[in-house]
Amino acid sequence: MKALNGKFFRRGIHTNDMKNLAKNCAIEELPASATVDLSLSQHIGKPAVPVVAVGDQVKMGQLIAEADGFVSSRIFASVSGTVAAIGPKRDERGALATFITIKNDGEYSFMPLEGEVDKTDADSLKKRIGQAGIVGLGGAAFPTAVKVSPKTPVDTLIINGAECEPYLTCDYRLMVEKTEEVVTGIRYLKTALGVDKVIVGIEKNKPDCIALFESYDDLTVVKLKERYPMGGEKQLIYCATGKKVPCGKLPSDVGCVVQNIATAYAVYEAVDKNKALYERVLTVSGSAVNERKNLLVKNGTAYKDIIAYCGGAKEDLAMIVDGGPMMGYSVVSDEFVTKKATSGILLLNQKEVSLEEPTPCISCGMCAQVCPMHLMPMDIDFYTIAGDYESADKLGGVTNCIECGACAYICPSKRAIVQNVVIAKAKLRQMKK
Ligand code: SF4
Ligand code: SF4
Repeated sequence: MKALNGKFFRRGIHTNDMKNLAKNCAIEELPASATVDLSLSQHIGKPAVPVVAVGDQVKMGQLIAEADGFVSSRIFASVSGTVAAIGPKRDERGALATFITIKNDGEYSFMPLEGEVDKTDADSLKKRIGQAGIVGLGGAAFPTAVKVSPKTPVDTLIINGAECEPYLTCDYRLMVEKTEEVVTGIRYLKTALGVDKVIVGIEKNKPDCIALFESYDDLTVVKLKERYPMGGEKQLIYCATGKKVPCGKLPSDVGCVVQNIATAYAVYEAVDKNKALYERVLTVSGSAVNERKNLLVKNGTAYKDIIAYCGGAKEDLAMIVDGGPMMGYSVVSDEFVTKKATSGILLLNQKEVSLEEPTPCISCGMCAQVCPMHLMPMDIDFYTIAGDYESADKLGGVTNCIECGACAYICPSKRAIVQNVVIAKAKLRQMKK
């Protein structure tokens, strides 16, 4: 079906997408490390609970931690071997989490998911999605089984093929190299949701993907303008359908559910290959890495092993980023490990990062002009620094912030607005408790 033109959301920013660095690198499989460290907090919701003990032998794909409640997710061994340790460690964001360490035996003996799936039955598909530990792989890591069970009826599944974060090309490679598998996963998601309409939103800078997905008659492809954050749920829903999700409401309140390309691929693998989510494709890019790649990486792999496979870092390395440059986090060590939602590892040089110290706000208003959520980022910044978190919300709207980073990108004073958003949200959560 010929692609339609999407609507355009005002605000947001136009960035140099830097996709040329890695977009032509075909997916390669990274050889597994000698050990993997699997966090039990790889998703939104309660940490998973270990079901193995130190000394146990496990297979690749075996359940090692069970979901703790409805909004939680299961964790699986990404290699076969021996459980070497279970205990607390700091994760890439500095939070303490429990990790299960597995010593790789080099055998890669595989344990498939148990049971049969009825591919035409919504409940059977939802059960398999939850059983496989699938979470949103676009970054949010929200358990997919919960997302495909909305409380209100929905009529449209929107697939996020925008991949609007600069540098990242892992979804692009899946769309190009695994088109049929991704479409199969999309169809399973459609059946699980019980909807008739599927829209695949793809930015116009990926004409080859648009052409590939146009050839499927049961999908509607919508061409999206290159604008950051086009992949934000509310922005994507508006551009793909014209529907506006009000503040404080969910996509399902306007009849939509959004899933991303890698998530659809994981659903295909869970249903057709009986494979749990224990590995994913991620992008290694940036001007400070010797070889850029799109790699299939086992969950729990240390960044340093990934970087070494990519020829190591260049001398001018200034920052390592987990994820994309807009919504990702700079990390202080290459000892941290990948999680289900790790979409990229960027090695950036001094030209690519701003190491300038913030200067006082000059009230230019540019942050508010670009904010896709129509918030007042300068007020969030001001009141958070003043320790008045309630005003950061009442006057700045911090709880509606999607942490896209557009305000910080545009700010001439280099204010650390997103860091203050994170602080204000955490303080408000504490105050509610
Ligand atoms: S305030 Fe939040 S939503 Fe608005 S531009 Fe900044 S990070 Fe994005
Ligand atoms: S863009 Fe920066 S300097 Fe301008 S109003 Fe916003 S915070 Fe202040």
